[in-house]
Amino acid sequence: KEKTLAIIKPDGLYGNYTENIKKAILDSGFTILKEMTIQLDDDAAMGFYAEHSSKGFFSSLVKYMTSGPVLIMVLEKENAVADWRTLIGPTDASTAKITHPHSIRAMCGMTLEKNCVHGSDSFQSAEREIAFFFDEKSSD
Ligand code: ATP
Repeated sequence: KEKTLAIIKPDGLYGNYTENIKKAILDSGFTILKEMTIQLDDDAAMGFYAEHSSKGFFSSLVKYMTSGPVLIMVLEKENAVADWRTLIGPTDASTAKITHPHSIRAMCGMTLEKNCVHGSDSFQSAEREIAFFFDEKSSD
């Protein structure tokens, strides 16, 4: 089965959305293989989002992602990468509230930046991101 990386971002933890998000995960047929709550430092946030380092929103994104603890999970099911992206909804949470009202970002996100959850955008990203936090590949 396929694995993907999910993160409940600081606003998701702070807003006490963890149990609702986990319920949505389990109700959708994912298994939570691993989880850990950690406080990212600047280096970790910058490394994780390295692909966005040239973007204008990068420093704001790093500040957001280090503003409190995050809950990082490895999820597994058939088609996990695409199905988790579908479940979380569009990047902009304010759009999600209109176009995907049952998505997780509609439930707990606020804005384009503060969108409460992360999901790997491809199988390759999932492998990199799982190894980044858990020191192993998603294909084992
Ligand atoms: P994620 O990678 O967190 O699942 P995503 O793939 O939907 O989100 P990306 O384009 O990879 O979105 O952007 C990574 C994160 O950077 C977004 O989740 C959001 O928090 C933030 N972000 C993206 N675009 C902007 C923007 N234009 N302004 C501010 N923040 C942004």
